[in-house]
Amino acid sequence: MHELSIISSVINMVEENCRDNNISKVEKIVLKMGEFSYINNSALIFAFESLSKDGICEGATLDIEKVIAMAYCKNCNKEFHLEFSKKECPICNSYSMDITNGYEMLLYRIEGE
Ligand SMILES: [Zn+2]
Repeated sequence: MHELSIISSVINMVEENCRDNNISKVEKIVLKMGEFSYINNSALIFAFESLSKDGICEGATLDIEKVIAMAYCKNCNKEFHLEFSKKECPICNSYSMDITNGYEMLLYRIEGE
């Protein structure tokens, strides 16, 4: 299950971050997920609840924010919204491989004390 491995790396990152910042209780974790990352949110939350037990993340809220996929067109020097079925620039119709958002999964913010 893909979500389990994501969450276990997220929890590792959070624990490391908490050690560096002297946080002893995590209240909220915000993840940003690209809209094409094909992650099932409820599976993520389920994985989080089971993997965070007995750790610093236990009881924390997991917030998942969706990030719209964007690509950069070198011809127009503009960013445009990428659709799954249409990856060409809407202005000049050239194909862009320069995707700036949309596939990533990143740990955005940790709140705690
Ligand atoms: Zn263009």
